[in-house]
Amino acid sequence: MPAHCIDLYSDTQTRPTQGMREAMASALVGDEQSDDDPTTLELCERVAALLGFDAGVFMPSGTMCNLVSILTLTTPGDEMICDRESHIYGTEAAGAAAIAGISIRPIDSPHGIFTAQQVADAVRPRTRTAPRTTLMSVEQTTNFSGGAIWPLNTLRAVRDTARSFNMKCHLDGARLLNACAATGIAPAGYAEGWDSAWIDLSKGLGCPVGAVLCGDRDYVREAWQWKYRLGGAMRQSGVLAAAGIYALDNHLPLLVQDHRNAQTIWEALSACGLFRFDPGRPDSNILRFTFTGDGMDAGLFARECLKRGVRIRDIGGNFIRVTTHLDVTPDDAAAAAKAMIEVAHALTRLSAS
Ligand SMILES: *Cc1c(COP(=O)(O)O)cnc(C)c1O
Repeated sequence: MPAHCIDLYSDTQTRPTQGMREAMASALVGDEQSDDDPTTLELCERVAALLGFDAGVFMPSGTMCNLVSILTLTTPGDEMICDRESHIYGTEAAGAAAIAGISIRPIDSPHGIFTAQQVADAVRPRTRTAPRTTLMSVEQTTNFSGGAIWPLNTLRAVRDTARSFNMKCHLDGARLLNACAATGIAPAGYAEGWDSAWIDLSKGLGCPVGAVLCGDRDYVREAWQWKYRLGGAMRQSGVLAAAGIYALDNHLPLLVQDHRNAQTIWEALSACGLFRFDPGRPDSNILRFTFTGDGMDAGLFARECLKRGVRIRDIGGNFIRVTTHLDVTPDDAAAAAKAMIEVAHALTRLSAS
C-alpha cells in the first residue's frame, strides 16, 4: 500500500482523533460488570434517550448487539426474516444458527428495502412442521446494498406487519445516525415501536470500539445476561465509552460531510460513463457500483486503485463498495474519484486492445 492511502474500504478505518484520545485518557471509570462505571452508564443513557428507549447496554461490537438481540428475542427453533444482503445473514459467521439455534429466511429486495407484503409472505404458517417465524431484522442504512435509507413509512409498515404476526422487531442501526443525518428524522423516530435497536460507535462516529444496544428495561436486563454469558462484560470500559460520548458531541455533526463527499465521488464517477451505480445517487456515505463495459473486473479494479493509493472494497458479484468517513477530506474524495476514473480508463483500453 502506498504511504498515503485514501482508505474508502469501510467507515471502520478511522483513527481516534486527538480530542477523542484526550477524552479517553481522562475518563472517569469504575467496574462496568457491576453497573458501576460512570462513563459507560452515561453513554448508555445518552444513546437510549437518543433512540427513545428506556435503557441501553454497552457492547464490544455491533455483531454482539445483533447476536444478543437474537438470543434475547427468540428461542431455539425459531426463524428470523431479514434481507438476503444483510450483515446479520452473510457476515456474522452464522452466529444466529451456531449460538442462538435459529434459522434465517432471507428476503430478496432492491437495496435491502423490502415491503410489508414480503414480510407477510415470509411468515410461515403455525403448523407442527414449520419453524416459528418470530423475529424480523432490518438494517438502517443498508450496508452491502449500498447505504440505502429505508423511508420512514416503509419502515413503519414492515414493523406493523411483523407485529400483526406477533413477531419481534430488531433494528440493526450500525449506521442509523447516517440515515438521520441525511433525512433530518430523529433516531427515535426511526426506532419507535421496535423491540431493540443499536448504533455502532466504530463506524461513522469514529470510535475505536463499541456499540450500544437499546430496548425496554426487561429487554436490557435479559440482554445484559447474554452479554455476560458471551464474555462481553467489561471492567473499566469508561475509557471506551468516553470515546462514544466525545463522538456524539463532536463527530455526529460531521456525518453530513461524509455524505457530501460521497456525492462528490458519485458526481465525478457517474459523469464519466464507465460506472453503473446500484443504487443510483447515494443516500448516505456508501456507494455501490459495477462497470458499464464488459471485461472489467472488480477485483482487478480494486487492486489497481490500491496501487494509486485508493483503497476500495470488492464486495463480490463484480460490485465495488466505496465508503466515506471522518478521515476522508473533501480533497481526498475528489482525488480518489480522479484516480478511480483513471484506472477505469486504463483498464478499458487494456481490455479493448
Ligand atoms: C458493521 C455492521 C455490523 C457489525 O458491527 P461491528 O461493530 O463491526 O461488529 C452489523 N450490521 C451492519 C449493518 C453493519 O454495517
